[in-house]
Amino acid sequence: MIEVRNLTKIYTAPGQKIVALDDVSLRVEKGEIFGIIGLSGAGKSTLIRCINMLEKPTRGSVFVDGVEITALNEKELRRARQKIGMIFQHFNLLSSRTVFDNVMFPLEIAGIPRKQAAERVRELLDLVGLADKADVYPAQLSGGQKQRVGIARALASSPKLLLSDEATSALDPQTTRSILNLLKDINRKFNLTILLITHDMNVIKEACDRVAVIADSRIVEVGNVLDVFSNP
Ligand code: ADP
Ligand code: ADP
Repeated sequence: MIEVRNLTKIYTAPGQKIVALDDVSLRVEKGEIFGIIGLSGAGKSTLIRCINMLEKPTRGSVFVDGVEITALNEKELRRARQKIGMIFQHFNLLSSRTVFDNVMFPLEIAGIPRKQAAERVRELLDLVGLADKADVYPAQLSGGQKQRVGIARALASSPKLLLSDEATSALDPQTTRSILNLLKDINRKFNLTILLITHDMNVIKEACDRVAVIADSRIVEVGNVLDVFSNP
């Protein structure tokens, strides 16, 4: 589902060069929940931002579902991004819109007819267990509920890949568990591939099939979670 080949990302700021990713290669198979763990500054966000092309790599290529997304023009990229959903640490909801209208937003942008889109939003809110919160505003929700809205919004276009950038880092352990369980349910139900980045080993242990450890801009280990974190 994802193939990253020899990816290097160098940020240039006046007077300095920051190598955020140094020749990183990685394969994530269809239907996997794959975790990337590393300390702050290791390069996790940069990697995920290169996979959805929010960031342009300095060198190397990224394939998503067989498409070389690093070779696309803007228009092609907009279409390719429909296949990729994303959730965030701070949820990134629109505070002036209701829960319903937040989930509606990507469908509006995609030009889906209102009636059909509304039906889809109901389905998605049902899926994440928030059918009864359609008409409230994000400020009235708990953190876990906000992330459920984020998940519903990310799934609106039926993506093949879901990217999670520290999606549980702002949540308490119990809420984290419930969000990870939801992600596991969705993974099974839709055979949706999930790539998540985290600094929290418990998230990897609870949710992931395989894991890559990233340190100082490089992947230093990849394998099954049980193998990587077992103490020989
Ligand atoms: P992580 O997500 O693991 O915390 P990041 O990918 O955010 O790591 O950062 C990797 C390195 O790149 C860090 O040294 C960070 O300061 C630097 N970096 C990240 N984004 C930028 C940017 N837009 N401009 C310059 N440097 C950046
Ligand atoms: P199909 O193979 O016909 O697409 P699925 O079993 O994949 O059927 O999907 C059934 C329902 O689940 C449809 O309503 C579809 O929109 C929805 N669905 C499929 N994939 C996803 C996804 N990744 N995220 C959210 N909804 C999805």
